[in-house]
Amino acid sequence: MMELYKKPGKIVSKVRGMAIDKVKENLKVCDLVEFVEEEIKKLGGEPAFPCNISINEITAHYTSPFNDESHLNLGDLVKIDLGAHVDGYIADSAVTVLVGGDELGSDTLFSEVEVDFQLKLIETAQEALENAISIIKDGVELEKIGEVVEDIVTGENLNPVSNLTGHSMDRWILHSGLSIPNVKGENKHKIREGDVLAIEPFVTNGVGRVTDMKEAYIFRFLRDRPLRMVQARKLLDNIKQNYKNLPFAERWVQKSFKGHQFNLTMNQLISSRALYPYHVLKEKSDARVAQAEHTVIVETDGCQIITE
Ligand code: MN
Ligand code: MN
Repeated sequence: MMELYKKPGKIVSKVRGMAIDKVKENLKVCDLVEFVEEEIKKLGGEPAFPCNISINEITAHYTSPFNDESHLNLGDLVKIDLGAHVDGYIADSAVTVLVGGDELGSDTLFSEVEVDFQLKLIETAQEALENAISIIKDGVELEKIGEVVEDIVTGENLNPVSNLTGHSMDRWILHSGLSIPNVKGENKHKIREGDVLAIEPFVTNGVGRVTDMKEAYIFRFLRDRPLRMVQARKLLDNIKQNYKNLPFAERWVQKSFKGHQFNLTMNQLISSRALYPYHVLKEKSDARVAQAEHTVIVETDGCQIITE
């Protein structure tokens, strides 16, 4: 069990470190996501989902669309969320970085208070993650994990994002049924030895809820549908074959799309519910959000962090 997850775990951990080192002012977001996805492949894995780069109040599910011109600015709070799989065995991890880092405080544009506050968001997410992981073992109820996260976060006068959760994973399945809460609430389900879990607290000084934006750049194959357009049929077959049920980036398929009217074809697949769109999520009150995430395997007396 552990053996199968070792390689994707190491890949994610290594690429996460390289991505952190790359973050700097003016870096194009598309260059960062492509760097992450390419490095995963170089190390012998495949992206388990498109690299997500979610900035400031954007909380999750942003990846570069085709020809993305956006770039990182000094003072941006950047969440890097990446996943790799080897033969369907998935490792998922995220980290938050402040562009400019500690040195921002000496920049006249940024007050020290502002910088310290962002670093506190990052540290609190990390601390909530570590504390949640520390209680994980066979038999622990899901509600205990949410309680630990909420207590740590509210103890810093911040809020966890209540409508985003961690998740269990299975081979080829990124979200395999269990949701791992980041807030208190009744959930007596007990985690079991061998469960593979992504633990991912999100921390904000806003209301602590995310809302859908209209944009979606990440999709997932849902089901076969009768399709009249030949191009739609072909595109759906390619998607199924290349990504199975794992999320993929619109830019991945757009690059290899042969034929006209890519958007029309995608829209048909979405409206016929052959594809599921992951809308970009932002914090409801437009407050900044930090995230930290690791994948763990539950054991009798604790857990193994595979993305450490
Ligand atoms: Mn993730
Ligand atoms: Mn995850």
